[in-house]
Amino acid sequence: MKRIGRLLVIALTAMVLTILAHPRAMAADLTFVLVNDIDTIDGDKDRGGFARLAAVVKAERAAGKNVFFAHAGDSISPSLMSGFDKGAHIIELLNMTPPDFFVPGNHEFDFGKDVFLTRMSEAKFPRFAANLRNAGGEAIPGFEDTRMIELDGVRVGIIGITSDDAKVKSSPGDLVLNDAVKTAFAARRSLQEAGADFFVVLGHLGRREDEALFRSGAFDLILTGDDHDLLLRYDGRTAMVESSQNAHFVTAIDLAINVSERDGRRRVNWRPKFRVIDTADVAPDAEVAAKIDGYRKDLAGELDVVIARTDVELDSRRAAVRGGETVIGNLIADAMREAVKADVAITNGGGIRGNRLYAVGTPITRRDILAELPFGNSTVLLELSGKDIVEALENGVSEVADGGGRFPQVSGMTFSYDPNQAAGKRVANAMIAGAPLDPEKTYRLATNDFMARGGDGYGVFRKAKSVIGERHSKLMANDVMVHLRQLGTVTAKVEGRITVAAANQ
Ligand SMILES: [Zn+2]
Repeated sequence: MKRIGRLLVIALTAMVLTILAHPRAMAADLTFVLVNDIDTIDGDKDRGGFARLAAVVKAERAAGKNVFFAHAGDSISPSLMSGFDKGAHIIELLNMTPPDFFVPGNHEFDFGKDVFLTRMSEAKFPRFAANLRNAGGEAIPGFEDTRMIELDGVRVGIIGITSDDAKVKSSPGDLVLNDAVKTAFAARRSLQEAGADFFVVLGHLGRREDEALFRSGAFDLILTGDDHDLLLRYDGRTAMVESSQNAHFVTAIDLAINVSERDGRRRVNWRPKFRVIDTADVAPDAEVAAKIDGYRKDLAGELDVVIARTDVELDSRRAAVRGGETVIGNLIADAMREAVKADVAITNGGGIRGNRLYAVGTPITRRDILAELPFGNSTVLLELSGKDIVEALENGVSEVADGGGRFPQVSGMTFSYDPNQAAGKRVANAMIAGAPLDPEKTYRLATNDFMARGGDGYGVFRKAKSVIGERHSKLMANDVMVHLRQLGTVTAKVEGRITVAAANQ
């Protein structure tokens, strides 16, 4: 008996030692399908859009076992339709082919905190944002920070990160957006403690944050958005991917992950395979296409009404509205100034989004105006000093060399600036109503609600006295439609409201 017992102990010890000595091998194959920055129902005529995206996702899900559809944010704004329904249709469309992982981008906050929370509550898919908290610092119900998925013994940890600069770029209200990079590292540590073998960041991140995460080597796969680039980067250690915009290109990353375990220690080896799916080659999904047709019909009647005609060329291309005075910028600023009876108006060039050249003779429809002003912004009226107006203009021209969206389109005033001077010291010769701007005088200024909240660096407006605040304001697009209807025909030219001063000393 004693001997049998001893033999049993020896046998068991041998078995345990064998198990410890022999590595356990695990292998998982999985695929991430990435889309980011898809905010219009259509995409281009022959590429992109929700119907083609749905077709790609369905095909990937049908072909692969562990397929995860990831959305890196920017969806419910800005677009023509979102101007009407604040992005509800986008969530409906996403719900038809729901992502497995979704992180909000800065544009998710464009309609404010309440709309953000409403839209997110309508989503029938998992939302992630480890750096998003409510005003009290708690997690937002319905959002996860991270998730661990275990596939054939391999543990894949996924971290969701939203745009931390939405505070400046958008309107999240009192929601807290913590530092994207710091939060990603903290989340990685907790996933590591939980035993993750493979680390994925799904983030709506600018290039600088992308770089910081990539260079650290701490993450295996970075799925990013915001820059609208088609990007594929791999240094043998980390892979980083972005899928252009509006699903023009959808990227699939096939991963073969091998984990061997010896003495309780896990070694991870993995190989990526990258597939760029050009949706120009994809037949749209019929069900989603039918849904989109329905949206289009509802709107068409209202939007195709012609409200004016232009006898001059109008240029709303990105470089134009962010680089100097434009006729279209003048029209919009004039409309705002008139609507609230202000002395001057300043509106950000980056808020003009049509990116289009209107030839002489082009009829202008409501649809055109909403395409130019898709953010659903409203016209507000502030009272502030001449000195503060100059400070605002300085901010406006501070990033002109980089095409910053803050570039001011103005009404009721003229000024010059010298781009060769340091930012903050560029503006000169400001005139209001034909008289030199008086730094001490109080003026009435029309701007949009986004800038009034300090957006695009216009923090000076937050100090101003609010005369017509956001709650009582009207849609900027409506003000512009009214103005254009009154004009009937656009004949104005660029008239020297904003001039570049030659650096002469
Ligand atoms: Zn973005």
